[in-house]
Amino acid sequence: MTISCDVAVLGGGTGGYVAAIRAAQLGKSVVVIEQDKLGGTCLHRGCIPSKSLLRSAEVYAEIAESEEYGIEISGVKLAFGKVQRRKEEIVEKLHQGVQYLMRKNKIQVLKGKGRVIGPSIFSPRSGAVAVELEDGEMETVVPANLIIATGSRPRAIPGFEPDGQFILSSEEALRMEELPASMLIVGGGVIGVEWASMLTDFGVQVTIVEASDQLLPREDKEVARELQRLLKKRGVTVMTGVTVNAGTSRVTEEGVSVEVTRGGKAETLSASKLLVSVGRAANIQNIGLENTDIRFDNGIIEVNANMQTNEPHIYAIGDCIGGLQLAHAASHEGIMAVNHLAGEPLHPYQPHLVPRCVYTRPEVASVGYTEQEVKDLGHDVATGKFPFSAIGKALVYGSKDGFVKVVADKASGDILGVQMIGPHVTDLIGEAALAQMLDATPWEVGETIHAHPTLSEIVGEAMLAVDGKAIGI
Ligand code: FAD
Repeated sequence: MTISCDVAVLGGGTGGYVAAIRAAQLGKSVVVIEQDKLGGTCLHRGCIPSKSLLRSAEVYAEIAESEEYGIEISGVKLAFGKVQRRKEEIVEKLHQGVQYLMRKNKIQVLKGKGRVIGPSIFSPRSGAVAVELEDGEMETVVPANLIIATGSRPRAIPGFEPDGQFILSSEEALRMEELPASMLIVGGGVIGVEWASMLTDFGVQVTIVEASDQLLPREDKEVARELQRLLKKRGVTVMTGVTVNAGTSRVTEEGVSVEVTRGGKAETLSASKLLVSVGRAANIQNIGLENTDIRFDNGIIEVNANMQTNEPHIYAIGDCIGGLQLAHAASHEGIMAVNHLAGEPLHPYQPHLVPRCVYTRPEVASVGYTEQEVKDLGHDVATGKFPFSAIGKALVYGSKDGFVKVVADKASGDILGVQMIGPHVTDLIGEAALAQMLDATPWEVGETIHAHPTLSEIVGEAMLAVDGKAIGI
């Protein structure tokens, strides 16, 4: 059978289902092809389940710190099975929400594995999709426009392939039925540090190994240093500038051991389990790209600023095009693609204005360029920095570590980047993103009235600090 439609979306993750909804809103007939569950990585194996576990860990840790608030609690017990069940309930509720949105927007969902086909009897140009449905039947979707949103999967290190028992990717880690006594985390990027923060709050002994000279290699050095200091203070062993030697993992009586190289010397590390979190690889294999003129030589699908591939009627969005590989980047790219194909293009995409959030305790968030990047771009830099220790609400919250840093161009006064580490900064970064999007100056944001006492006061203060006019210090 064939189905003709205006827009087909291959992959129903955050990028794909949001693109589908926007296409339906613009009056298009839409088919989504999803081989697994609508919601993709973010909902089932990423953002939502990990944040649910992080929240449980945070509550557990805060209860342990409750005496500071004048509350004495005894007999606290961690029931990890219930922690996992809560996570699954949240995921299922949101999964139902996505299915409802598909029905509400009259989007046809085909459950099956799709493969792009070249020019054929169905269509003179490539971009039709052959779908192998769950029951083995074949269906061909013939769209005017195709959006590829097939996402990504955990990147493996040779010799450290996940076995589900001792060596885990984030996917297996999310499904753990019991907490291990200790965890060795290979990779100190976003996923690695979130797991380090969560597991240490749950009482697991954590060692994190990062090849670069700082955790969160993409982020500002000062922020990374502060995160490292705070993780160490909570008992995490952080090793930077350390590489794991390929093929050296051994299953032992206690769990797993590996050989690492630090300062030219080899040493052995062991733990009950090992988590590999060294980034994600785009899902571009076996989806029929070779039947098209789409370029994908670098392990990702190449697109232009409108998200169009080399075949202009075929778009690609989200993790499969590389870049930041974040859920909100994927959904924004999906909306950009649809608005473009519908002849209603949005403002040009500025990937550096995608907020980057890390849900450790305390959180890290940033938008725009770091101080070093701004210097590398040849700008004369002015910075403003303000500590959470001088913010009343942070003290009330019992969370006074961290700071907000603003990076501006000295000559023009433009805000070029904002970095934050501290309580709830993932909820504060939106103001900094808006300020940059609207080309506001630090002075304009600083003069904006921030309610007292709120954590948001720190954004205004850090902006005023660029001109040495912060009030609170
Ligand atoms: P996906 O969500 O991966 O969706 C792709 C979909 O395509 C999948 O459902 C897949 O089954 C389907 N598919 C693939 N091939 C085919 C095919 N041939 N036929 C049919 N269907 C196919 N991002 C954030 O912004 N915030 C976070 O806090 C965050 N936390 C994360 C935590 C973890 C542990 C992980 C792993 C990721 C996290 N991310 C986070 C990243 C985020 O999950 C991804 O950036 C986001 O899911 C990308 O969306 P996508 O639509 O591009 O791809």
